[in-house]
Amino acid sequence: MSKYQTYLIFGAPGSGKGTQGRVLGKVPGYYHCACGDVFRALDLRTPLGKQFLEYSSRGELVPDEVTVKLWKIRIDQSVESHAFHPDHDFLVLDGIPRNISQARMLEDIVRVRKIFHLTCADRSKLVERLKRRALRDNRFDDANEEVIKHRLETYDEESRPLLTHYGNDMTVHIDAMLSPVDVLGNIVEVLMQDRRNHFGEEGFSAVT
Ligand code: ADP
Repeated sequence: MSKYQTYLIFGAPGSGKGTQGRVLGKVPGYYHCACGDVFRALDLRTPLGKQFLEYSSRGELVPDEVTVKLWKIRIDQSVESHAFHPDHDFLVLDGIPRNISQARMLEDIVRVRKIFHLTCADRSKLVERLKRRALRDNRFDDANEEVIKHRLETYDEESRPLLTHYGNDMTVHIDAMLSPVDVLGNIVEVLMQDRRNHFGEEGFSAVT
């Protein structure tokens, strides 16, 4: 099996990964998968659902084995149901991989082409955004300031090292405090360029 041609949307909680991912996923030729959504679709009464609730409500990552297994099941299903066509769609991932161990577990499945790093030095702005989202989207893990703080710490300790893991050539830094359309514009510019490179390199078939 050839690897899925993949872009990662990366950044701290509240940086706007989901917003960008959802928009890109509407574009033919791009399939979006948010790991948090995969978890939120679980029935919270099942053992796996309970495990998600337990970790996420503490602001911690769900263990890697179960996360990657669940994600893989979801991706396989989307291939089987023809929602995702790996032979001519790019995969847009947000929320996975979230640490180096997950990146290693995905290595045989995805080929990461670029990482879009949505940057924000001002943590208070992220906290503000998350609190607003808690009210709007009914997200229990956004409602409590202590949990938010712990999620940001988890990001710094476990997720941020991925930037070094993938390296500078792979990473596109974009200011997360720009308006969503400006963030999108920056991403699309790189996608257009990379698409041209890819077609040139490997004769990747055009999506109509
Ligand atoms: P955010 O990026 O704002 O934290 P997500 O919706 O991506 O929100 O994730 C919500 C929660 O789901 C996380 O705090 C974590 O507990 C769990 N989660 C999501 N993706 C992963 C992952 N790749 N590995 C482990 N846990 C994850």
